[in-house]
Amino acid sequence: MSPVPSDLEVSRAQTPKPISQLAQEIGILPEELEAHGNTKAKVHLSLLNRLQHQPDGKYVLVAGITPTPLGEGKSTVTVGLTQALSAHLKLNSFACLRQPSQGPTFGVKGGAAGGGYAQVIPMEEFNLHLTGDIHAIIAANNLVAAAIDARIFHEATQSDKGLFSRLVPSVNGVRCFSPIQLTRLQTQFDIAVASEIMAILALTDGLADMRSRLGRMVVGSSRTGKPITADDLGVTGALAVLMKDAVKPTLMQTLEGTPVFVHAGPFANIAHGNSSVLADKLALKLVGEDGYVVTEAGFGADIGMEKFFNIKCRTSGLRPNVVVLVATVRALKMHGGGPNVTAGAPLPKEYIDENLQLVKDGCSNLKKQIQIAHLFGVPVVVALNVFKTDSEAEIDLVCRIAEASGASAAVPCHHWSRGGRGSVELAHAVKEVASQGSHFQFLYNLQEPIIEKIRTIAQKVYGADDIELSTEAQTKMEYFNQQGFSGLPICMAKTHLSLSHMPEKKGAPSGFILPIRDIRASIGAGFIYPLVGTMSTMPGLPTRPCFYDIDLDPVTEEIKGLF
Ligand code: ADP
Repeated sequence: MSPVPSDLEVSRAQTPKPISQLAQEIGILPEELEAHGNTKAKVHLSLLNRLQHQPDGKYVLVAGITPTPLGEGKSTVTVGLTQALSAHLKLNSFACLRQPSQGPTFGVKGGAAGGGYAQVIPMEEFNLHLTGDIHAIIAANNLVAAAIDARIFHEATQSDKGLFSRLVPSVNGVRCFSPIQLTRLQTQFDIAVASEIMAILALTDGLADMRSRLGRMVVGSSRTGKPITADDLGVTGALAVLMKDAVKPTLMQTLEGTPVFVHAGPFANIAHGNSSVLADKLALKLVGEDGYVVTEAGFGADIGMEKFFNIKCRTSGLRPNVVVLVATVRALKMHGGGPNVTAGAPLPKEYIDENLQLVKDGCSNLKKQIQIAHLFGVPVVVALNVFKTDSEAEIDLVCRIAEASGASAAVPCHHWSRGGRGSVELAHAVKEVASQGSHFQFLYNLQEPIIEKIRTIAQKVYGADDIELSTEAQTKMEYFNQQGFSGLPICMAKTHLSLSHMPEKKGAPSGFILPIRDIRASIGAGFIYPLVGTMSTMPGLPTRPCFYDIDLDPVTEEIKGLF
């Protein structure tokens, strides 16, 4: 339809097929499916065993240029591409997406199921509780906090030789308090999706591995400065019980009835930003050798994609065939010096009228993100997500610059306004480039010192001249070295709004020193976690959060205000 109705209206206009029917169509057995209503189902991990001899399909990563408030549409491209591959090229394909948390849904985005005619449906189900995985993560975090509290309380009242003298804050998503006077107790409050338990869910390859990762989480330190783990607290088994259903990916569908896994949802700026290894592995088996799995990394390629390669692929052993890099003319104009936009205010004319100079200047960001993908030896297809304000000349210019910058192909995509048929050209390009083979390599070796791994990311990926560690970061790094944690990959916590640590620096900044304020470790998840500049691990809501507009009709039970 033109004009395209709201995301919610498009979603509601399409009746999803029964989830059991979709499962049957893609080869999932009834006993491998656990329905949650008629539109969502958890899929048993036993399927991995049954299909262990089936060759994997092609593995496609969707990443993006540095995000701007004007939006890029990575989820929309992910869904549109699978709709084109399955429904139009008649190839098996699967989309793997992260589960949105309440932050984006009630705060800034109103929904993250894609948009227009390229969405996961029903979008309310996708955006709200889904099958309760995030609730399980919150419960598990609360249990760790309660276990710490109980231990401190009982040690303080019954013994003077307890485990804890000093609590290194690593418990997330909870308020950790003690009923007695403990002057040296330090706590912190982080969001559930940035918690180590979320990262474990996203990186684990099964129940046994999840249990041992949960047990390895360091939750404090002893009187002698030794790390105390969840195992030491005796809480691991109970955590595994709380997480036993969350470990199974949730099956949903696109507007065109093609399959989607929704599983795990770490943010890319303060966490590792990728959906689960398990969802990708299951999907790669289900599509078979000639099929395609399209998985999405959060925010810009400098963070979501870098972590996809250096953390997720290292953990999973999976190797991507092609990167689809999403760009929009509007966002490139902002990278080229276009004015800031204010939510709710009319769009400045620079984003409505043709302006080839701004587009050309902003392509510095696109070019840099293409180069970053090439550092890993993976070919790039640029997907230009077309908005109705884009001119033909602007679209041509982006595609020409992308190809001149080394992209194997660059194509305009119209899935938002036309569904899968609007991304057929992208699907052909992905198929062609994926068949050419990639030469994947990691950016650093795990054996390198922590400081060198951070420096490599700062210089090669972000374009920094060098890094500078605060005293706190230096001390923590030495502590992690002493504890034998130095061989882990790095998960940078950096603003997503710039390639640098300065959100206002658009395009491809250079000539800066990257400040490392602090370094933390997620031993169970398996990464070292530097905090860059003023990056906060506790994001806040905007002045006018989406929740102002979200409401329920008490008679029809219809949800309003998700867009
Ligand atoms: P990302 O994954 O990059 O955060 P999404 O795919 O979730 O972005 O899209 C963000 C919002 O932008 C959605 O509401 C979607 O409907 C809208 N959007 C995406 N592409 C287009 C487009 N081509 N035209 C208009 N709106 C779009």
